[in-house]
Amino acid sequence: GPAALALLGPAPGAPSCPHGPALLFVKTSQGKEEGRRFYACSACRDRKDCNFFQWEDEKVSETRLAAREEYNRSHQPCFTHTQNVDRYKNFVLLPLSKRRFCQDCQQLLLPAEWKKHSDHQFLCDITTARLKSPSQLLYPLENKKTNAQYLFADRSCQFLLNLLIDLGFRRVLSVGTPRLHEMIQSKASQEEEFNVRSLLLDIDFRYSQFYTEDEFCHYNMFNHHFFGGEAARETCRKFLCEENGERVIMVTDPPFGGLVEALASSFKKLMAMWRETEKEGHDNREMPMFWIFPYFFETRILDFFPSFSMMDYQVDYDNHALYKHGKTGRRQSPVRIFTNLTPRMIVLPEEEGYRFCTVCQRYVSSGNQHCEICNSCTSKDGRRWKHCVLCKKCVKPSWFHCNNCNCCTLQKHSCEKTDPGCFVCGKAGHKRSACPSLSRS
Ligand code: SAH
Ligand code: ZN
Ligand code: ZN
Ligand code: ZN
Ligand code: ZN
Repeated sequence: GPAALALLGPAPGAPSCPHGPALLFVKTSQGKEEGRRFYACSACRDRKDCNFFQWEDEKVSETRLAAREEYNRSHQPCFTHTQNVDRYKNFVLLPLSKRRFCQDCQQLLLPAEWKKHSDHQFLCDITTARLKSPSQLLYPLENKKTNAQYLFADRSCQFLLNLLIDLGFRRVLSVGTPRLHEMIQSKASQEEEFNVRSLLLDIDFRYSQFYTEDEFCHYNMFNHHFFGGEAARETCRKFLCEENGERVIMVTDPPFGGLVEALASSFKKLMAMWRETEKEGHDNREMPMFWIFPYFFETRILDFFPSFSMMDYQVDYDNHALYKHGKTGRRQSPVRIFTNLTPRMIVLPEEEGYRFCTVCQRYVSSGNQHCEICNSCTSKDGRRWKHCVLCKKCVKPSWFHCNNCNCCTLQKHSCEKTDPGCFVCGKAGHKRSACPSLSRS
């Protein structure tokens, strides 16, 4: 078996980096723990972004602890959320001619600050409409390993919103979905009869310049850390209370390079938060959820959430050359919706090429043929898959059964390879950190 890193989870009493409590890891070989356990940053998979490291059994001196605390403090944003909310109030009082946004600092500027930013690039005449679309104003943080900010194409965002409205939801916990949040906020402020509310949880603190403490919480979804402490946690808890029958759904679109087990552990805590808000209990129901993630993570997600199923809908992105809709000959998006709602409730648009399979009782891609032997619509990528009697399952159309390997695989492969393959896409020849399916440009 391969050497790998295993997450031992959020550990009580874990030391903190600027991104909140670190996670406990261990090197494994042949599935067995090997070597010393250590703590590393939960949010940053790139050492360049956060180099926090500590052995589990390491004795850390008082001086180093103090230095670390000081370091963590100095690596917090220069304005608090409350300060940013005040700044926004002052900003909107300014005439258009005085509304500037510094592109270098990604910050709304008040006139007294212009001088300090005089040699920076800035945008002028920031209209109220632009303030309502911060995801267009801010540049997407595309650094693959940490933020991986890929914004929904308008079509997909609109689809998600209509879907959850049709399903009867009135509150959306938007975890790492700033564009969905923005669409909801902006409709709520423009359309009288629009009665959906959203709370954004995201690690991107730039959004605190545009939203109040009731609309945005600075949150780390890899360790369930609320940077705003108990007050922010309480905001989230309150939001999850289904007062006046306003039903809640959580929608999340995490960075794909992230650790599924860490995400799952945080999402379970958010689900527990929801469950605890209900005095009569939710009859063991789960908080409804859309987890947006690539299809090759299906088994990983189902390991943690057996009640979930994967929908065929292909989620498209704006700033992603490869993950745009297929029609024009471009590659199709591998990103799907995983949900614990009944699949047949998730109505997919016929005009985009989805149909209802009466046997499977769910909407599928038009190319996804129902296999009589598997008794399900087996394609994961929208293309028609073919059944292999030897493997006893459907496989990609480009695969062939190799009698040496005793399984279906690409025709071009070397049989003796025992490489178990990449953890992310399952293909041989590279590790998860170098997985081409994660590079999105
Ligand atoms: N498609 C979504 C954006 C998804 S990109 C939309 O258009 O709304 C991933 C999002 O997760 C980004 O907003 C990013 O800032 C956020 N994110 C990345 N790491 C995170 C972390 N550790 N905790 C919380 N949010 C994180
Ligand atoms: Zn960190
Ligand atoms: Zn079917
Ligand atoms: Zn089959
Ligand atoms: Zn086969």
